[in-house]
Amino acid sequence: MANVKCKLKEDGFYEWCNGMNTKLHGEANAKVKGLVQVNLFNFKTTKESCLGVVYKRDVNDKGLMLNLCPWCGEKILNKSKVKDKKE
Ligand SMILES: [Zn+2]
Repeated sequence: MANVKCKLKEDGFYEWCNGMNTKLHGEANAKVKGLVQVNLFNFKTTKESCLGVVYKRDVNDKGLMLNLCPWCGEKILNKSKVKDKKE
């Protein structure tokens, strides 16, 4: 079924909307230009989850973190994970 909006699932990963699904690259370290999913590994819980999506302007760009999905407008920055990171 088509996903109209991006949604954060209980496992900490997003279910992306169709627009994001077609444009998103899987690996954060991939030498690509465009949108890349960033996952976070928590050493305390040994669990992996999705932090959000970065936009890379060229292959060597570290990328800009997106707070909203450009297609559906949903918030796609996993705030709880960002907070974890600072602790
Ligand atoms: Zn979306």
